Amino acid sequence: MVATGTVLSPLMSCTPSGNSDEPATPLTNWAGNLTYSTGNVHYPTSTEQIQQIIRSAPGLRGLGSRHSFNKIADSKQTLVSLKGMKKIFSPDQSAGTITVEAGVRYGDICGYLHENGYGLHNLASLPHISIAGACATATHGSGVKNGALPIAVKAMELVKADGSVTTLSRDKDKALFDGAVVGLGALGVITKITLDLIPTYQMQQVVYRNMPMSALEANFGTIMSSGYSVSLFTDWRNKNINQVWIKSLTNAAQTVTGKEFFNATLAENHLHPVETLSAESCTDQLGIDGSWYERLPHFKMGFTPSRGEELQAEYFVPMEYGYEAVMAVEKMNEKISPHLFISEIRTIDQDDFWMSPCYKKPCVAIHFTFKPEWDAVQKLLPMIEEGLSPYHVRPHWGKLFTFSPQVLQSRIEKLADFKALLLEFDPESKFRNEFLNKNLF
Ligand SMILES: Cc1cc2nc3c(=O)[nH]c(=O)nc-3n(C[C@H](O)[C@H](O)[C@H](O)COP(=O)(O)OP(=O)(O)OC[C@H]3O[C@@H](n4cnc5c(N)ncnc54)[C@H](O)[C@@H]3O)c2cc1C
Repeated sequence: MVATGTVLSPLMSCTPSGNSDEPATPLTNWAGNLTYSTGNVHYPTSTEQIQQIIRSAPGLRGLGSRHSFNKIADSKQTLVSLKGMKKIFSPDQSAGTITVEAGVRYGDICGYLHENGYGLHNLASLPHISIAGACATATHGSGVKNGALPIAVKAMELVKADGSVTTLSRDKDKALFDGAVVGLGALGVITKITLDLIPTYQMQQVVYRNMPMSALEANFGTIMSSGYSVSLFTDWRNKNINQVWIKSLTNAAQTVTGKEFFNATLAENHLHPVETLSAESCTDQLGIDGSWYERLPHFKMGFTPSRGEELQAEYFVPMEYGYEAVMAVEKMNEKISPHLFISEIRTIDQDDFWMSPCYKKPCVAIHFTFKPEWDAVQKLLPMIEEGLSPYHVRPHWGKLFTFSPQVLQSRIEKLADFKALLLEFDPESKFRNEFLNKNLF
């Protein structure tokens, strides 16, 4: 149908089977904790098709790889999956950038970039997420000097509510751009993204087991700066950090390799962050050299992570409150631990994106991978949010949270500017959904 240039009616193009007589079964998100509110899903393969869909749909949302745990991507009317838009353009050598269509996942380009001598500054814990969806929610990895993933976005093309195509770039439209990159899917459907590249690099990671939490009191900054990217994993039992993952640049001046690290012991086997699980799906540890994309994520691209069966929440506090915030959570350990697989503590450098939790301030992120026990988890989240409230806490846009809209809004410095931007891009609120209406409006 695309080849013949037929303009598709929304119904014709929406069903995965292409059979418009059968109602499509609504999709679920990766974790399976959410069924999207409509089965009316389009799978366009070109910008022109997206323009057509947007012009005829009264309300819609762009959909990435469906890894968000809340209703941020949901629509009651129309979803536009970018799954079919996965073109990767050749790197622009003079600009040091690569442009990809919005359905491309990080894992789709990493090997290609490495083979061509390029790298990205950071990656999230797994490479299966779409670049557009990740940047829309300020997805991040770790590292005191590493900003969240969207800091690599140099330009993006999107189709606005009126069906027109616009390109925003960091160099030409800095003010708009800072509002649009972490855009929560609210400005339009992103069709292409251009990312900054850096020269490829080698890394190695080591894991230390059982670090007393007390070590964090005087050394939080030192510990979190001990590698290019550092993650602390804890189940909050026994005031213990179960594992410290240190990812270092090969040949870095100060690569941590000793047998002990703040009373934690160097692991001699590959480990999964949840120690009882097989490390088969995890990226290589034990100080073995590897390319950046085989060390920065915790999980390998080649392994499809188990489907769901977990619930995630994550909270950001400004860096200066890192230790206090961790200890505030520790106080709730008896309530949290029974429902938890594992928590991860990471750091993210500041950025300029209006809706980013790290807007103008470096942050510590405290993440929870809970068991799929929503009845219990929905009681724990308000407790954790209350415990972290002295620390200007904000949630991850793509994970579960229960803040009242008033509290959430009071912590977003640039909310009024973002709302004005939405009005400019989307005067008829086509891209507003229940999540945005509830939380921002
Ligand atoms: C197993 C797992 C591990 C994770 N690890 C991390 C991690 O290490 N760090 C971290 O910060 N987060 C992490 N996350 C959260 C995840 O990165 C975010 O939820 C991210 O937004 C998911 O991207 P997605 O492509 O699945 O987007 P979706 O969930 O499909 O959508 C997210 C948002 O992006 C918008 N969107 C997507 N594509 C487009 C487009 N083309 N145009 C316009 N809007 C669009 C949607 O409308 C929605 O608002 C993890 C999630 C899972 C399930």
